[in-house]
Amino acid sequence: MRASSANIQSMKIITDEACTGYSRPGHPEKPARISRTLEKLRAQTELSITWTQPGPIDDAAILRAHTPEHLARLGASEDFDADSPAYPDIADYARASAGAGLEAMRAARKGETVFSLMRPPGHHAMRNRIMGFCYLNNIAIAALEALATGIKRVAIFDFDVHHGNGTEDILLNRDGAAFYSIHQSPAYPATGLANAGNNCFNFPVPPALPRGEYRDVLSSALEQLKQFKPDLIGVSAGFDAYARDPLAQETLEAEDFYWLGQKIRALNIPTFSLLEGGYSRDLPELIFSYLKGIEGK
Ligand SMILES: [Zn+2]
Repeated sequence: MRASSANIQSMKIITDEACTGYSRPGHPEKPARISRTLEKLRAQTELSITWTQPGPIDDAAILRAHTPEHLARLGASEDFDADSPAYPDIADYARASAGAGLEAMRAARKGETVFSLMRPPGHHAMRNRIMGFCYLNNIAIAALEALATGIKRVAIFDFDVHHGNGTEDILLNRDGAAFYSIHQSPAYPATGLANAGNNCFNFPVPPALPRGEYRDVLSSALEQLKQFKPDLIGVSAGFDAYARDPLAQETLEAEDFYWLGQKIRALNIPTFSLLEGGYSRDLPELIFSYLKGIEGK
């Protein structure tokens, strides 16, 4: 499909290469996830990309989603758990990633196609707990900012292969918000086996579910999301349901992420997407496929 000549627009990518500045040997959430994706996106010619850096984020926006204790804890020097080291300056990295989420949300409201390519990810960060490589819940912070600034109904669609337990914890029973998560079960963090409250809808799928059936589950989750009639959609875009991801046992291929991007685009609702997980060497190709889908290429 070609972009219509009446509406030629470029995709906005919000990123800052400085987010590659923290690491620990052997940790799967590593800088190359971003640096290699940047190489791929800079070298390609199919998508016209506008690059933007994340802006600052104030405490008030973070404190809609997290407790003051959580925010203070970001400065700790002891590891939070085996997955979530207390990297030096992780508070600054987490704030930059959350700030990029806010910027993506605002761009979507202006009608732009937008993706936040940042780390750390966010969807496991609970209101008062750092866990699972996640320090601040970028998507929940953006959703609550949207609701505080005029959006009436915001839906979160989380296709990371792990349950977005932190997003569920923060948005549970929150008026105007609905959460849809499709994830492998059993798998980390062992939550999301059933719906929760009046607005959190979980779609656990068994390991090694054939791709076609996985697509069916994604489709029915999107269909339910559509019934919610959101004004705005935030996507927790994790690429670890990929067949060769080292952290899960699912079956999706690059073309499935392209297909999913097209499905989301077809909803014709302002949408912003934030990178969550995805740990295979092929992550740049998977992100590129998804971007082509949401851009209608
Ligand atoms: Zn994940």
